[in-house]
Amino acid sequence: MTPVTTKPRILIVEDENIVALDIERGLERLGYEVVGVASSGEEALHLAKNAQPELILMDIKIKGNRDGIETAEEIRKDFDIPVVFLTAYSDEGTLQRAKNVGPYGYLLKPFDETEMHLAIEVVLQKHKSNRLKEVQSQNDLNLSEERFKLFVDSNKEYALFMMDSVGNVISWNLGAERIKGYKPDEIIGKNFRVFYTDEDRMAGKPEQELELASSTGKFEEENWRVRKDGSRFWASEVITALTDEQGRLRGFGKVTRDMTAAKIAEEGLRRAIVVRDEFMSIASHELRTPLSVIALHLQMARKIREQELKSGAGSDRLLTSLDISIKSVKSLGSLIDALMDVSKIHTGRLQMNFEITDFSKLIQNTCKNFEYAFDAAKMKFDYEIDSGIFINCDLMRVEQVMVNLLSNALKYAVGSPIKVSLKADNKCAYVSVQDFGSGIPEAMQTKIFDQFERVGSPSVSGLGLGLYISKQIIEAHGGSIGVESEMGKGSIFKFDLPKEKRA
Ligand code: ADP
Repeated sequence: MTPVTTKPRILIVEDENIVALDIERGLERLGYEVVGVASSGEEALHLAKNAQPELILMDIKIKGNRDGIETAEEIRKDFDIPVVFLTAYSDEGTLQRAKNVGPYGYLLKPFDETEMHLAIEVVLQKHKSNRLKEVQSQNDLNLSEERFKLFVDSNKEYALFMMDSVGNVISWNLGAERIKGYKPDEIIGKNFRVFYTDEDRMAGKPEQELELASSTGKFEEENWRVRKDGSRFWASEVITALTDEQGRLRGFGKVTRDMTAAKIAEEGLRRAIVVRDEFMSIASHELRTPLSVIALHLQMARKIREQELKSGAGSDRLLTSLDISIKSVKSLGSLIDALMDVSKIHTGRLQMNFEITDFSKLIQNTCKNFEYAFDAAKMKFDYEIDSGIFINCDLMRVEQVMVNLLSNALKYAVGSPIKVSLKADNKCAYVSVQDFGSGIPEAMQTKIFDQFERVGSPSVSGLGLGLYISKQIIEAHGGSIGVESEMGKGSIFKFDLPKEKRA
């Protein structure tokens, strides 16, 4: 056994003076410091508090209202002092009671000095090592709590916050501030209903979600939520019910992630797929139509020629069929050109060949070429072209824009008068093509310049690409194109081109 080097402080609780004195002497001989002798539970409690012993030797049968076991129980509640019971009883009941208090040891009377020394040393060592373990695990807990708090507080990706059992916010992290826009002092204490849309609030969704979370443990969903500034964001959220050991609801934890960008991308993709599929169906129909016409008229031409050869006579019908076939081949060519242009735009290969061009003459000639078509459609066609306007542009491409606008006027403003005007100032040339047709709904006025967008008159053929390509051409010149339109009154398509191409 190792000799006692420092002097551990011991309190003796023993109501028999002679025994107490005997123990005291023994302890002193063994090198311990006796801080006091108590003969009752009350006295023991008083000395435990004031003399600060490191160990108590506690007789079980003592004076006063409490016995040694009850006194030890009191001491254990308030102080961290190990107790060694001294008992003459070795009956199971008493030993069990003593064990339940959680004693560190006990000595059965009569005991000798060596037994006492051994019991005291074992208990002191055990107590010391328990204390060390407690301190260590408390340190670990503090550290992990601190780390967790740091992680929660500084997390910017996720809104992490706690609510009480009725949904009042009680904590708020940086992510919550970033995503929802509230500072902690603006939201703590307020009800989480403020994060929901008016419709959801009216439908009682916030309350239903808390109820579901508390009955099943958690509630998960993706939905629109509202920021402080009233804007909406697509939230992915989980509400977890927080219950104590007895299963009582103490509140909720909520984790929210802003998934708006992903949602927009997903919707864009879905829309692109719908648009692509619609386009495939329109394109196949549009390409099929002139092909059928060509096939039909070539068959007719063959038959006519056969009859002519038989009868030896000639007729105009052959020429008519061939003319229709040629027209259809041209329209097929235009459709394929449009598709090729779009593919060039997508791959960045739509090249412009800029040259100084007599723009007045270009517009004038294009209009002249359309006179016959408007005449045939019995549509009044006027153009007012200021002369001498020169522009640095790709002549063919700008002509393509003009042809598209005039063809659209023919197709979509059937029977209406058409007016074209060209004016210029020292910076730009301004072209407008006005019709008095049915007009374009406001919601579609920007969209028709996107690819494959049509206002839904499937009876009129088209791929919905002309205005999209026109916009790309005009913008490649540094200009702009748009439409002003009113339903029932007609439309004015306008584009402007800088005289010198802007970089
Ligand atoms: P397409 O004529 O092949 O459909 P465009 O890109 O040239 O393609 O036109 C897109 C859509 O814009 C047309 O489908 C039509 O609905 C609408 N549009 C174009 N011009 C007019 C117009 N002058 N009046 C009414 N609607 C028009």
